[in-house]
Amino acid sequence: MRDFEGKAGLVTGAAGGIGRATAVAFGREGAGVVVADLEHSRDKALETIALVEEAGGKAIFVPVDVSDSTSVAEMVDQTVRHFGRLDFAHNNAGIGGTGFLADIEEDEFDRIIAVDLKGVWLAMKYEIQYMKAHGGGTIVNTASEAGLVGTLWAGAYVAAKHGVVGLTKTAAGECANMGIRINAVAPGAISTPMVRQLPAMAKEMILAPQPLHRLGTPDEVADAVVWLSSEKSSFVLGTILSVDGGATANAESYNPELSPSA
Ligand code: NAD
Repeated sequence: MRDFEGKAGLVTGAAGGIGRATAVAFGREGAGVVVADLEHSRDKALETIALVEEAGGKAIFVPVDVSDSTSVAEMVDQTVRHFGRLDFAHNNAGIGGTGFLADIEEDEFDRIIAVDLKGVWLAMKYEIQYMKAHGGGTIVNTASEAGLVGTLWAGAYVAAKHGVVGLTKTAAGECANMGIRINAVAPGAISTPMVRQLPAMAKEMILAPQPLHRLGTPDEVADAVVWLSSEKSSFVLGTILSVDGGATANAESYNPELSPSA
């Protein structure tokens, strides 16, 4: 029996990267998955659907802009209309943004907060309203290593992701006795378009203090999300699970010479 046989849920930002890997991982466990992403990502979302089905799951595309309340409410409604239930949600859609914080334009700051922070709050709002009235469920938010430590030249993103960490912990407590278990993953540098498009210097800066000295894979994050969404993590809530090659644990003290290769 697969862990998510007969269950259904949604993954935002599932047209690519970490969200796609998670949608496929849920599919492998037998779930019905709503692949939610921007309308203009429809073609890539359809590729995700094919991969979910190949893995043994069922999937549909639901267009969403996570920064828009009506659109997010509709995403939850459509999930329930199509699959008849909402057992799990991975609130993962996000955008990056770099720049010296005193030079970030106000509309850029607002955009990052709207998608990366308000988008997670809106998704939880409608998911919790449904789950509360229908026997509970699990929610995993995608925070970031940048939600746990400061990250130079990413001020708005850091602020949004620290906000996701705070929202996750608070929501976990508020919903603990409603049968809704809420956690977050905090990925380090993962090989997705968001990171691959960064300038080489930025990638080097990111990897230098990280003990494993490599990019993680979307699958490595997906495995953590599926575990946090499953019964196997039944006593885990309000946790921010780092999936970052040891980067956060060693950010202050790591010295490559102290961790030589064998
Ligand atoms: P990605 O760019 O490959 O995927 C992000 C997806 O979100 C895209 O498909 C995009 O279309 C979608 N999206 C963007 N804005 C949206 C909106 N308003 N509404 C709906 N969908 C929207 O990036 P990724 O690396 O897979 O990132 C996924 C999540 O992981 C993000 O929250 C990101 O901040 C976080 N994260 C990524 C890394 C990394 O190294 N890649 C590290 C830490 C955290």
